Amino acid sequence: MEAQILPEFTRDMFNRVVDRRSRFAYVLRVIVAAGLPLAGCAPQQQSLAPVQPTPVVQRPIYVPPAKPVVPAKPTSPPVAHHENVTILGTSAEDRAIEMVMFGRSGEVTLILGAFHGNEPTSADVARELIRHLRSNPHAYQGRRVAIVPTVNPDGLALGTRANADGVDLNRNFPASNFPADPPRNFEGGPYPVSERETLAVLTAVRELQPAKIVSIHSIRRGEHGNNYDGPARALAVEMGRHNGYPLLPSMGYPTPGSFGVWAGVDQRIPTVTLELPREADSETCWRENREALLAAIRFPAGGEPVHVSDPTQAYRTGSGK
Ligand SMILES: [Zn+2]
Repeated sequence: MEAQILPEFTRDMFNRVVDRRSRFAYVLRVIVAAGLPLAGCAPQQQSLAPVQPTPVVQRPIYVPPAKPVVPAKPTSPPVAHHENVTILGTSAEDRAIEMVMFGRSGEVTLILGAFHGNEPTSADVARELIRHLRSNPHAYQGRRVAIVPTVNPDGLALGTRANADGVDLNRNFPASNFPADPPRNFEGGPYPVSERETLAVLTAVRELQPAKIVSIHSIRRGEHGNNYDGPARALAVEMGRHNGYPLLPSMGYPTPGSFGVWAGVDQRIPTVTLELPREADSETCWRENREALLAAIRFPAGGEPVHVSDPTQAYRTGSGK
């Protein structure tokens, strides 16, 4: 009796108390609590026989091949940039004559621009070389390069060949061919080194004792080339390999009191006068001469017989160098 009444009562209470969804959840909890298996939730044990362990297959473990060890390239020590700017002196109109020195030690290559103020591309090429060496310090490793981009700053400002005193600085050096009694039309000054600019260059040469010198000028096209004084033929030939300019043992006219005669012939310092074609713009001149100037910096100096110009040659001022 009780067995029939109780389920009846229980069902009734159950229906009253819980709604349909809760009823389902309740039934589910009862089933789980009773340990009844739910299909698909647990494997049914079929027999009590001991389970044989599955043999473990030892698969080879993939080991990625080791990267080949590349021997490190021998790294050369970083090339240090070293630059020093000095004022060699001042011009007749008190403009500074600057010299930029690259490198700490080693033989010196001296490079001069704008002896003549009406040859501005010579200063531009010298300045381009300064910019190039600033960003390419390996170009002067183990040596020094001294660059005076503007020997004649007054002339460059005025656009004149001579300085502000009207003196052609490239005739004002104490060369063996400076006229003993300068005539009136001589533009090289009343006596050697009468000009402050000349003194500035002389001071640089005496203090630096350069192994070789390149003095940059310009002249009308057809007369341009690598002119040399003193033991500088090989240097001029080497520069010609890079700029393609003709080799000029002589400019074809006397150059009394010129820097080339004083430095190359008299002092026996290999001296090249690089004559740019005057009609070419600065960019062209730099493009044509960058490698020639870098080759001049690398070129080992010395060891050549001296070329001595004829000091008895009658002088006249030339139109170029
Ligand atoms: Zn010149």
